[in-house]
Amino acid sequence: MSLKYDKKYLWHPLTQHQLHPENLFIKKAKGALIFDEKDNAYIDGIASWYTCMYGHCNPYITNKVAAQMQNLDHVVFTGFTHEPAIRLAKELISILPKNQHKLFFSDNGSTAVDIAIKMALQYHFNKGEKRKKLIAFEDGFHGDTFGAMSVSGLSIYNGPFKDFFLDVERIPVPNQDNIHELASRFEEMTQSVDVAAFLYEPLVQGAAAMKMHEPEHLNILIGIAKNNGVITIADEVMTGFGKTGKNFASEFMQHLPDIICLSKSLTGGLVPMAITSCDEKIYNAFLSNKMEKGFFHGHTYSANPTSCTAAIASIELLKSEEIQRNIKVICASHEKFNARIKNHPKIKSTRQRGIIFALDLNVETERYGDLRYKLFDFYMNKGIYLRPLGNTVYILAPFIISKNQLEKIYIAIEEGLSIL
Ligand SMILES: *Cc1c(COP(=O)(O)O)cnc(C)c1O
Repeated sequence: MSLKYDKKYLWHPLTQHQLHPENLFIKKAKGALIFDEKDNAYIDGIASWYTCMYGHCNPYITNKVAAQMQNLDHVVFTGFTHEPAIRLAKELISILPKNQHKLFFSDNGSTAVDIAIKMALQYHFNKGEKRKKLIAFEDGFHGDTFGAMSVSGLSIYNGPFKDFFLDVERIPVPNQDNIHELASRFEEMTQSVDVAAFLYEPLVQGAAAMKMHEPEHLNILIGIAKNNGVITIADEVMTGFGKTGKNFASEFMQHLPDIICLSKSLTGGLVPMAITSCDEKIYNAFLSNKMEKGFFHGHTYSANPTSCTAAIASIELLKSEEIQRNIKVICASHEKFNARIKNHPKIKSTRQRGIIFALDLNVETERYGDLRYKLFDFYMNKGIYLRPLGNTVYILAPFIISKNQLEKIYIAIEEGLSIL
């Protein structure tokens, strides 16, 4: 395959093409492996951005989708409905936190977040209150559309757009040292009538290089927000569907969010889809005999039957004994690896939540500094696909990864310490 036309015509995401003109050609993927043009295999240590958790090209999912495609490809979801959407709703509502009541479809994580923000703003508007401020964590990441970008704290690359952002106030992520002061500041902030919503990545901030915080601290903040009539939005685009050891990270807290955003791994990585779910209180605020109180947001491919079918199959797999057992095995395996590596002089700290494992190297470097490229190349040469961020190396492998493949990732990480 000639890469000439890639260079000629394609603009890749999150890429400075002048500095990084090369892209590796990937020919196929199967299970935990991706293969390049020369048939070199790479273990997908990050499940292709946390999507294909049941393995690439999982036949259980692809067979169901193939059958669905013969029957109903796509139809408008305004005025029509169909079986894949209804079945998915039943399946998903049955595993979501128990207050979740309605599902709204879109195509990607960013739009799921934009929809959540719009739901929260219009919720107050429909009640005759014009609240316009949002509260979000420093270093959060919620996507790249305007609403999602506004609430993202990781905005080093968002300079050109800052003047067009929504009104967002940022708070630090809670920890043992700051929680008391933070809670009282948060109480004061949320008592202001202007605050519409508090939006957060529960427990693990993915793009911030798997930064983690404790359920009891987040629970305090969610409780304060709810007490003050502020809508709570859990962005579970990364944490959703089993990665934290529970189906959803929100289950670790007693206070449940009003709105949840889902996308990555919803369809097992086969096709794009996103869902914003909400509780009864949100949905009911849009019911009226006035048209304009409805939610006038819609995407052409809403509830695409193929995507719904992939999502149903994925949830069936998530609930299966085999996957639930694998999740436990991976958690235990990471714990053992942690014990083996945490005292290494080149390791500053390690952390784990469910199957997500991260370590910080004892070096100073930029998020996209030279080190990350050096490590990336080192791992790829060993047949391991990992994407270090700054001085953080993390593993978020598919649930179906074998013990042997996991061990290969661990060994590559250990050997990589020698090039620091
Ligand atoms: C990836 C991600 C998004 C954005 O999803 P896209 O599908 O890339 O638009 C939003 N929130 C979180 C927590 C994410 O990890």
